[in-house]
Amino acid sequence: MPEKALNIMLNIVLFGPPGAGKGTQSQKLIEKYQLKHISTGDIFRKHLSEGTELGKKARGYMDNGNLVPDEVVIGMVGETIKESSTTAKGFIFDGFPRTVAQAEALDELMEKFNMKIDGMVALEVPEEELKTRIRERGKTSGRADDQDEEKINNRISVYKNETLPVAEYYTKQGKFAKVDGVGSIEEIFGEICRKIDNFK
Ligand code: ADP
Repeated sequence: MPEKALNIMLNIVLFGPPGAGKGTQSQKLIEKYQLKHISTGDIFRKHLSEGTELGKKARGYMDNGNLVPDEVVIGMVGETIKESSTTAKGFIFDGFPRTVAQAEALDELMEKFNMKIDGMVALEVPEEELKTRIRERGKTSGRADDQDEEKINNRISVYKNETLPVAEYYTKQGKFAKVDGVGSIEEIFGEICRKIDNFK
């Protein structure tokens, strides 16, 4: 990777609880900023549907709304970054990092490829609204974890206990910005872009 890559690349973490709209906003962001989308949830679901070894390892955790162990996730993200680190204009991480150990590993990975995280944008949505959205998505997503009240509640509590500290990790680095995740898709997108442009 050439040295100037640090300046011209844009690497963003899109953060928020399940159902906050990270996937929807990521689709718009990759188009506008020409980024590579790394959604750990999507990658795991692909492995699940293809029945790979990795998919088999992840299935039990995912079906119950628990986190897949850090070493499995980190290894998979490392591979994905490696595959596109010379071609991508930057990355948008969606659903990763979900633990402080993952955030630390991401910093190490970025350094290894002479890149850095520019900032994290957190989507904030009230809990009741999250549940309504996930239940609604469950009607069409086919995702087991979207269709069971207990699993939905578990994902939200895993988020609060294990994932929220990641926001603090980026706050300490002066790389944290939050956006109200309730509103129209376009409004929210506009706000996210404003925050991202401030990181640059
Ligand atoms: P959500 O809609 O809950 O944000 P995702 O599609 O991001 O869902 O992830 C679905 C599931 O995949 C999670 O509940 C978890 O089991 C697993 N998963 C995804 N990303 C990670 C990660 N970074 N660390 C651990 N597990 C993960």
